Amino acid sequence: MIVLGVESSCDETGLALYDTQRGLLGHALHSQVAMHEEYGGVVPELASRDHIRRALPLLEQVLAQAGAGRHDIDAIAYTQGPGLAGALLVGASIACGLGLALDRPVLGVHHLEGHLLSPLLAGDPPEFPFVALLISGGHTQLMRVDGVGSYTLLGETVDDAAGEAFDKSAKLLGLGYPGGPALSRMAEFGDSGAYRLPRPMLHSKDLNFSFSGLKTAVLTLVKNHPANICEQDKANIARAFVDAIVEVLVAKSVAALKQTGLRRLVIAGGVGANAQLRASLNDIAQRRRFRVYYPELQFCTDNGAMIALAGAMRLQRDPSCATREYGFNVRPRWPLDELKAV
Ligand code: ATP
Ligand code: MG
Ligand code: FE
Repeated sequence: MIVLGVESSCDETGLALYDTQRGLLGHALHSQVAMHEEYGGVVPELASRDHIRRALPLLEQVLAQAGAGRHDIDAIAYTQGPGLAGALLVGASIACGLGLALDRPVLGVHHLEGHLLSPLLAGDPPEFPFVALLISGGHTQLMRVDGVGSYTLLGETVDDAAGEAFDKSAKLLGLGYPGGPALSRMAEFGDSGAYRLPRPMLHSKDLNFSFSGLKTAVLTLVKNHPANICEQDKANIARAFVDAIVEVLVAKSVAALKQTGLRRLVIAGGVGANAQLRASLNDIAQRRRFRVYYPELQFCTDNGAMIALAGAMRLQRDPSCATREYGFNVRPRWPLDELKAV
């Protein structure tokens, strides 16, 4: 069965073809980062319009990569939520339009389920059950994952998401938007001992996070510097920020493994691309004898492949997940633990 995946929840248009027998056949992505950069954040109306412009050319690209035609598609999975309403509607319309034209069923996929399952696109994928640390631009959650759609929330951020903390701190350091990757690169040149930032909720005895104080601490450090803060000082602040956030993320993940008694940890979402986080997790995993699984770097941030995969996994378990009723019911807000196991 070949599933087309369509992702358009925010500022990336992603299309992909996943074959339940052969795996990923092709994927294509357009990021709108350059377009939104001058506004310092995503402009929803511009995002929707750009998804409209990009989606069908990307579909042609993916079909060409796969050596397939439109009629080879057996079902279409699209991101139904959460995300920007207008952006989601574009993906839903394209999926439903294609479904109607080709007489193929469609199914709406939860964006975060896509992120959670994205490490299963890699070789040597994890088996269920596992603990998942979902660290994206809009979410920071620890979940117990017992199967597709079987998610138990163990803890989450009480304020900013991890990616949001990276981006806001990067902005304070003048690194543009979204500055998470630039801040991470800069931190590599920083001196780890130059500054020490707080480790919020490290000892809170639960699996929740809080990152807004960390951003405020970065602001205070920046304000304490003269107007022309030098590059080395910026790097030192970036390093202090990454050291703090990585320590908290690692400690809470280890605590979640201990609480659940599980020995497999899956990392998902854009912050999962962070090299310092990966190094720190690999190190402790070796010492504590658990395994960590990551998505490929290209599938950490938003993409169509994870949506095609999540759709395919659902359809394999329950073909009635898909429908030929082509409605436009997107869900901009949609808690992950409302999903039903399949
Ligand atoms: P959500 O999935 O919660 O709706 P999103 O789709 O915007 O949010 P992702 O695409 O998973 O989130 O990830 C984007 C985030 O990842 C941004 O905040 C970005 O700064 C961050 N990010 C990307 N690469 C890195 C990196 N190497 N280090 C730290 N953060 C990173
Ligand atoms: Mg994005
Ligand atoms: Fe995302």
